[in-house]
Amino acid sequence: MDADEQSRGFKHDRSEKCKEVFSLLSDYLNLELPPETCAEMEAHIGACPPCVEFTESLRKTVELCHQYKPSEMPAPLGASTREQLLDAYRKMMESRKSLPA
Ligand SMILES: [Zn+2]
Repeated sequence: MDADEQSRGFKHDRSEKCKEVFSLLSDYLNLELPPETCAEMEAHIGACPPCVEFTESLRKTVELCHQYKPSEMPAPLGASTREQLLDAYRKMMESRKSLPA
């Protein structure tokens, strides 16, 4: 896991911001963040390829989840969705690890 930290800091000096963004993503995708925070996150995500990639996979996961749920129930993320998000996160970290430096 320390290798992740190192590769993240490799040419990505905003890794602290990334962690913050990652931690806010589920709220963001649930539209539970205040607009200013959303705007700040979107600004970072727009300029940060690892975050773009991660956000895309998160969005897909959440879209799938929303499609699956009854439309009258905008339910918060359940345990299985969190598992999927975590899985998406792990895959993102895996793929970044195997990228050439
Ligand atoms: Zn980032």
